[in-house]
Amino acid sequence: MNDKDCIFCKIVRGEILSFKVYEDGDTLAFLDIHPVAPGHTLVVPKVHATNIFDITSESWAAVAETTRKVAIAIEGALESDGVNLMMNNREHAGQIVEHPHMHLIPRFKGDGLKLWPHGAYKEGEAEGVKEKIRGALN
Ligand code: 5GP
Ligand code: ZN
Repeated sequence: MNDKDCIFCKIVRGEILSFKVYEDGDTLAFLDIHPVAPGHTLVVPKVHATNIFDITSESWAAVAETTRKVAIAIEGALESDGVNLMMNNREHAGQIVEHPHMHLIPRFKGDGLKLWPHGAYKEGEAEGVKEKIRGALN
């Protein structure tokens, strides 16, 4: 996917209409067209990338800061009881649009939205998993 055909790049360029809630030099925040709840917002970098695996550290920092600002605005403006931040990275993690985007979802007491089921580690499993991840970071 290049930026010419990317739907979120088209939104950034204004070629597709969106309900913009915030914009700065590096990022854009706009309402998701199929909201989990009214106010469900997407924050995207203006520079095209695919997901968390290829976004530059500068672009990611800008997305993170815009996410922080907009989350505060959503909670205040919509009087929500919390906000979920969520990012899908790659197809099997639920990513459909191949341009990095953070979902900001306002949450309300008793809204009934379930995220994911929590499991449990088998005896000794957590140690091995922790070692694998630590190894990849060194
Ligand atoms: P993903 O599953 O890739 O994390 O989420 C993509 C999100 O983009 C979906 O929640 C979908 O509703 C939203 N979306 C897809 N196309 C458009 C569009 O043209 N405009 C807007 N505002 N949102 C879109
Ligand atoms: Zn793009």
